[in-house]
Amino acid sequence: MSEAAAYIAQVKAQLMKRDPNQPEFQEAVANFLNTITPVFAAHPEYQKAAILERLTEPERALQFQVAWQDDQGHMQVNRGYRVQFNSAIGPYKGGLRFHPSVNLSIVKFLGFEQIFKNSLTGLPIGGAKGGSDFDPKGKSDVEIMRFCQSFMLELSKYIGPDMDVPAGDIGVGGREIGYLYGMYKRLRGSERGVLTGKGLSYGGSLARTEATGYGLIYYLDEMLKHNDQSLAGKKILVSGAGNVAIYAIKKAQELGATVISASDSNGYVLQADGIDLAKLQEIKEVKRGRMSDYAAAEPTAEYHEGSLWDAEVAYDIALPCATQNEIDGAQAERLVKAGVIAVAEGANMPSTPEAIKAYQSAGLLYGPAKAANAGGVAVSELEMSQNSRRTSDSFAAVDAELKEIMIHLFQASVDAAKTYGTPEDYLAGANIAGFIKVADAMLAQGW
Ligand code: GLU
Repeated sequence: MSEAAAYIAQVKAQLMKRDPNQPEFQEAVANFLNTITPVFAAHPEYQKAAILERLTEPERALQFQVAWQDDQGHMQVNRGYRVQFNSAIGPYKGGLRFHPSVNLSIVKFLGFEQIFKNSLTGLPIGGAKGGSDFDPKGKSDVEIMRFCQSFMLELSKYIGPDMDVPAGDIGVGGREIGYLYGMYKRLRGSERGVLTGKGLSYGGSLARTEATGYGLIYYLDEMLKHNDQSLAGKKILVSGAGNVAIYAIKKAQELGATVISASDSNGYVLQADGIDLAKLQEIKEVKRGRMSDYAAAEPTAEYHEGSLWDAEVAYDIALPCATQNEIDGAQAERLVKAGVIAVAEGANMPSTPEAIKAYQSAGLLYGPAKAANAGGVAVSELEMSQNSRRTSDSFAAVDAELKEIMIHLFQASVDAAKTYGTPEDYLAGANIAGFIKVADAMLAQGW
């Protein structure tokens, strides 16, 4: 084993010992460490400065109580988190997730990924993530509001426009950001740059809602072009039916592809003539309904319970846009057999390590989450910058900037992969390009 490989194995072992009960965090770190040995072989100075040990331990991890009153007048208690992972290149930045599965391991994996994703955008933002095990499903609007207010009562002590800037993630959309911002403002005054994903009437950016989904398709388009392929005429499976999935479907349709699926945690819809986006938006965004409601309203849609990735269907491109580890090894094998040529990740870490192995050994084009879904946070940073300038940019200007960022970050991944001896490995390239910028900033700022 080379000296660099031995060092990385030692960092992994230390982490296993320190956080044995954090499987998602372990998975994210291992996926990252497995690709960066060549960087350490070329840059012994990173090892001397303990860059990896410092990068794999959050700078600060907060856990707090969120007590709120439900509609029956009962007090409920949830757990809130904010993990401020790394601030080498800018203020902490990353979303908030409200979902019953949220725990420290999940918030740490998301915060860790966010460091490199944010770095890859080329913009000056550090990595963070937060959230709560609160389940928004079935809650009334007023319950959501009271929960958000209680959550912010505590979180407001630790965030600020130049300190830490949260945004949305699963279970946190425009409505929640509005309630969170309203509470922050009451507590600490009007500082628009403290949250992103705000409504347009109070400091939000045009194209922020669309950014993750559009960015995913810009990235995919670039990856396909780089390999002499195009989106036109391709059949795509999209999982999820949230903000990422909806705008990925929209942009993919605009570029001439047919998206034949969408899903939620109960089941999925297959629709050979293509998903009706207006109907999907009405069901999901206005009625806050389920995919079964969509299927009931669409004569050509078939509804199935279970995982979309178990569907027996032929298609060209897979866009997992639901949640972590949604595609396992066996499902990845099925997708390879179905004739898929490319996978691009809209969700964070949607593929298990076995799934990634299956893509790679089949020679699929694989766009990893930290690159492919970086468009959301990139436009969040553009929102911060508009808030600082006290101006707002047009949809066309933000969208053009988003596209440029996605093209640039794909190219940066290709270049880094080539320089470090793993040509056309876009996962290694994204990890390496994202890492080097952060590592150099840490070195420059001293021990
Ligand atoms: N939650 C999104 C992500 O995973 C966006 C974060 C942000 O805009 O700060 O990147």
